[in-house]
Amino acid sequence: MPAAVCFVVLGRQGSGKGTQCQMLTERTGIIHISTGDMLRAAVEAETQVGKQVKEVLDSGELVGDELMCELLAERLTKSDVSKNGIILDGFPRTTQQAEALIQILEKLDIEMVLAINIDVKNEAVIERMLLRGRTDDTEEAIKRRLELYEKQTAPLLEWFNEKGILVSIDGGRTEEEVFEDFLSQIENSSN
Ligand code: AMP
Repeated sequence: MPAAVCFVVLGRQGSGKGTQCQMLTERTGIIHISTGDMLRAAVEAETQVGKQVKEVLDSGELVGDELMCELLAERLTKSDVSKNGIILDGFPRTTQQAEALIQILEKLDIEMVLAINIDVKNEAVIERMLLRGRTDDTEEAIKRRLELYEKQTAPLLEWFNEKGILVSIDGGRTEEEVFEDFLSQIENSSN
């Protein structure tokens, strides 16, 4: 038996990853780890990391792989992880991060069970992101994030697919409809 299980949620920004993960946490207790939330909290608290990444977040660029992997590895050593299992939201975003994730999980005896891609098309997410009105959601930053998604993150779908642990669900429905699928994918994979 591994010490804990790890799920990964993939999808463009604005595809509903955060919402689905929150609903999952409420229902199952699986811990939602959002690297975007961690970074925004660091910016808010004006920590050293926060100061370092503020401009990057505002511009829509990606924070460096090395720093991201360090932050994630540190978070995964907390005791809540092994108790409840985790779902990663916003990590990995590059192939380097995905490769590093394998190493980090192995060291901590955490099993990567499934990656769930919430599929929502480009046009639909632009509208959603403008509506949610986060301060880093300027039109420029949104455009840049979507460009980077295609270039850096979309190839991860194939990466997870080759490992035989990728499923895609249609994210263009109501939150409740998507959640029904989302939850059943998680539950089926644990059986
Ligand atoms: P998110 O909340 O996941 O959309 O992330 C917001 C911003 O945080 C992104 O646009 C990136 O600048 C940064 N970020 C979050 N996660 C990562 C990651 N895994 N690698 C690099 N940058 C990240």
